[in-house]
Amino acid sequence: MNLHEYQGKEMLSSFGVKIQRGIVADNYKKAVDAAKQLTTETGTSWHVIKAQIHAGGRGKGGGVKLAKNLQEVEEISKSILGMMLITPQTSAEGKKVNQVLIAEDVYYPGDNEPEEYYMSVLLNRETGRNMIMYSTEGGMDIETVAEETPHLIFTEEIDPALGLLPFQARKIAFNLGLSGGALKEMVKFVSALYTAYVKSDSSLFEINPVLKTSDDKILAVDAKVTLDDSALYRHKDYVALRDLREENAIEVEANAAGLNYVDLDGNVGCMVNGAGLAMSTMDLIKQCGGEPANFLDVGGTADAERVETGFRIILKDPNVKAILVNIFGGIVRCDRVAKGIVEAYKNMGDDMNVPIIVRLQGTNAIEAKQLIDDSGLPVHSVVEFQEAADKVQELLA
Ligand code: GDP
Ligand code: MN
Repeated sequence: MNLHEYQGKEMLSSFGVKIQRGIVADNYKKAVDAAKQLTTETGTSWHVIKAQIHAGGRGKGGGVKLAKNLQEVEEISKSILGMMLITPQTSAEGKKVNQVLIAEDVYYPGDNEPEEYYMSVLLNRETGRNMIMYSTEGGMDIETVAEETPHLIFTEEIDPALGLLPFQARKIAFNLGLSGGALKEMVKFVSALYTAYVKSDSSLFEINPVLKTSDDKILAVDAKVTLDDSALYRHKDYVALRDLREENAIEVEANAAGLNYVDLDGNVGCMVNGAGLAMSTMDLIKQCGGEPANFLDVGGTADAERVETGFRIILKDPNVKAILVNIFGGIVRCDRVAKGIVEAYKNMGDDMNVPIIVRLQGTNAIEAKQLIDDSGLPVHSVVEFQEAADKVQELLA
């Protein structure tokens, strides 16, 4: 589960990580009030207005702007709220901005220039250990740094039994070129950040930029936080942070129905039992020149109700032009699934408006094919996987 920047920052702050302070607002009046309140609390009269969407690269897309007075806070908030923000990480239509974060300007001039660093915490799947990745080249172009100058990105692996050791935090601060007060601040920052990562059961933190202010404070200016869904039962208060508006509507509905569904760009709907079979079904569709519209694992119990729910969810995607059902009858018998398909089809009536190709293999496959053929419904029943994929292409042509 992904958090918004403002939620991520609040969470980090609860573990003692220093952040750029801000207040979230969903209309321009609240945005102006937020700016006034921040000025009272921090003394700064400049603010950044930051679009809150679940995608990075907002700065490049015009979703992060500096306001030098309340008039500008109002104007900028009005223009960003409600806009479809397009960034390198969104689709071509972009994402609707429902909220903005009004944050204190922390790039104020002083004895030194502000410096932007990059820092993330994540799991190294090869070693099974958490690691901190960091770079002096923070800001908006870390992807370019990773591609062109990967030697400028450092990693520090953490022993799960020992946790982050003080010398490791110092090494990170030192490698970032810090000394004196800023080094001490960075050591505290890194330690608090790692504690937050572990205690919140997160699977990714990406703080870009971590800022060294002109007066040597170290702050999280941005925060991308991904929580581990499997650990949410330990963090009941984080569950409320989920923003369903940011998620694919069909996926949300499918997940609520207990189906494992991932929306894709193609036009062949797939209904399969088992994740491995679902993956290979998608591969075969591609190999035959088609494009899968989704990944859908209906699981072990492919009864009429589940099949119908599956069909209805697949059909919510307007791009779907045919549905391929690929079921292997191992524990579940094929004839039961076939009955389920026939029943679901009859229940749906005119709602089923695309051709269905069914491939049932395994226990009682012959009986299953017979059941479908005898039903008189326009369902194409095949036995071989290849045949099924070819039939899909034929029907789409
Ligand atoms: P992203 O583009 O989605 O990663 O959004 P960020 O939160 O990282 O903000 C983008 C950029 O906005 C940062 O790299 C900064 O250069 C700039 N920015 C963020 N906060 C401030 C601020 O307080 N003052 C100024 N002047 N610029 C800021
Ligand atoms: Mn950023």
